[in-house]
Amino acid sequence: MRPTIFVFVLFLAGCSSIPPARTSDLSRGETVRVLILLYHHIQDLPGDASDSLRRWTLTPAQFVEHMDWVAQQGFDVITMAQMNEHLNHGAPLPAHPIILTFDDGWKDNYTAVLPVLRKYRFSATFFITTESVGHSAFVTWEELKAMSEQGMDIQAHSVTHPHLTKLKDEAARREIEDSKKAIESRLGTAVVVFAYPFGNYSEKIISMVKDAGYESATIVSGNNLGYLYRADRSYALSRIAIEGGNTVGDLAQSVREMKENHVSY
Ligand SMILES: [Zn+2]
Repeated sequence: MRPTIFVFVLFLAGCSSIPPARTSDLSRGETVRVLILLYHHIQDLPGDASDSLRRWTLTPAQFVEHMDWVAQQGFDVITMAQMNEHLNHGAPLPAHPIILTFDDGWKDNYTAVLPVLRKYRFSATFFITTESVGHSAFVTWEELKAMSEQGMDIQAHSVTHPHLTKLKDEAARREIEDSKKAIESRLGTAVVVFAYPFGNYSEKIISMVKDAGYESATIVSGNNLGYLYRADRSYALSRIAIEGGNTVGDLAQSVREMKENHVSY
């Protein structure tokens, strides 16, 4: 049998359009370093913008600077779905992975972010709060469908964006399960990654997320070690939250720290 199998593998490799990629042997406990960025709003701020809006908003021009930097640094932009495939199903990672994520499903994800991502041929992951979909400040299901069809990765961020640890168990379970079901039934795509609203989670919430069929989940980094994780932390993948005014210099600093930092969980 062996010669037959050998030929078959060669044939597959020859036909593959996927470039060779470095794999990480997580079974030996190697720490994988992937910068996962978390964006919220990309828009020009109104004059009466609240402090909160100012904190979480990048202007479209600033966002283009960020994407320019990502392109110039030679990053391989991947999605959380691809990350999940790596963590849970052994798919290889490219050599210099970075992940762009956007939370809450704001309208500008479609109007301002998507065109820029398309221009750079980047994909990104959008974590959607499903009850908000269709309200004026948020994307519609039709827009999400279009984004999905254009290669964007749509994952879940609960139904109503609560602090999950403050809810009764049954209510928390519904938030976690129903957001997955809503996206899967509307878009026909698999939802396997969950983003805890406010990065608020506990061991019990992690169990619920696992029970609902998610294979990994993301939190929000509260410190500069946010980009470090291991396979056994796949339900607490940290992200660097980008705030208004963060420059490409700040991004470069994060990468420097990532390379220099050998702390692991
Ligand atoms: Zn959120």
